[in-house]
Amino acid sequence: MNAVLTPKIDIEKIRGEFPILHQQINGKPLVYFDNAATNQKPKRVIKALTDYYQGYNANIHRGIHTLAEKATSAYEDTRVAMWKFINAQHVEEIIFTSGVTESINLVASSYGRAFLKEGDEIIISGLEHHSNIVPWQMIAEEKKAILKVISITPAGEIDLDHYKKLLSDRTKIVAVNHASNSLGTINPVKEIISMAHAVEAFVLIDGAQASAHLPIDVQDLDCDFYCISSHKMYGPTGTGILYGKKKLLEKMPPYMGGGEMIKDVTFAKTTYNDLPYKFEAGTPNIADVVALKEAVLFINELGKENIAAHEHNLLQYATAKLSALPQVKLIGTASNKVSVQSFIIDRIHPFDIGQMLDARGIAVRTGHHCTQPLMDSFGIEGTVRASFAVYNTREEIDQMIEGLKRIIGFLIK
Ligand code: PMP
Repeated sequence: MNAVLTPKIDIEKIRGEFPILHQQINGKPLVYFDNAATNQKPKRVIKALTDYYQGYNANIHRGIHTLAEKATSAYEDTRVAMWKFINAQHVEEIIFTSGVTESINLVASSYGRAFLKEGDEIIISGLEHHSNIVPWQMIAEEKKAILKVISITPAGEIDLDHYKKLLSDRTKIVAVNHASNSLGTINPVKEIISMAHAVEAFVLIDGAQASAHLPIDVQDLDCDFYCISSHKMYGPTGTGILYGKKKLLEKMPPYMGGGEMIKDVTFAKTTYNDLPYKFEAGTPNIADVVALKEAVLFINELGKENIAAHEHNLLQYATAKLSALPQVKLIGTASNKVSVQSFIIDRIHPFDIGQMLDARGIAVRTGHHCTQPLMDSFGIEGTVRASFAVYNTREEIDQMIEGLKRIIGFLIK
């Protein structure tokens, strides 16, 4: 486990920022442990959305009237906030997308179509979300490239020896997540990146499960692409970013054609806009991008080290409590994890556990978590997954454990 600080946070104050938490579900106070799917939104993010629609809704970039200028500057302020959030070198390396899924599809499609050739190899890991598998399968099929998969250890860690064996001068792209949504494993991405660069392959990091929990410094990592979804970091759904190194993005052809991504259009020829607009065709998701800045400020003001320390304490507490239940088997026991714990209970289907916990007001996720191949490698259909955010508490974990004890007692005689 990581070296951990004592978190400097005021949990009651934080919980007060999240209106959704203060409600009853099935007659019980809501315990929200589905944060890896999407986490809840603080008041300031919700306020930014209503402020935008009530005060300055206008289309951006092309307008010269006051509202259009205000909306444009708020939209671009979020780009600056995200630029700093991941310590990119240039602000134009931040491209707004609808989230990680679109970011990966953009790279697979634009980079892949332009540069992949028959026999080239793409490496992913056995820990990947479907959105970091399927786009690569699609482009591999189209370009007759080969997809290779790094094996996973029984604890749910990437097997670096196997990765080393897969790397060769045929490897063109390596795409792995920073942290696994199903198991919580934090991958040694810096090492993975430098090993790929040694064979001159590019690396895409899926940061969906990292942005709310781990420090991200794309220059230090030296990754070529990094993908983030706003809704997994206390921001609105429907937006996120693709970070790409400027020299790569400049070489890549546009992903979608339309307004905004052009400099000049005639029926004979179109010239494309500069970065980042080349990749932002059409009217973007202005309101959600604007509100994402408030999510960045929320995280920055709390301090990622405090968030990580609090969540790490919750994870350790939950893991110990779950391990003490003899019927529970933990899935995903890597030594370095974000606050996600998957488990199964012998002879009880995860869906039944999920439904019975919901009856007690506790929201967990059940199923394959969009990682079917990973579940296959454990020989299971799915898990129950509890994932924690900065507003969760030990008392809530106690309620889940109490619920599980009841379910076990009721269903396993
Ligand atoms: N990768 C990982 C690791 C994820 O957890 C998710 C969301 N569950 C995604 C990719 C896809 O993100 P989105 O649905 O926001 O595009």
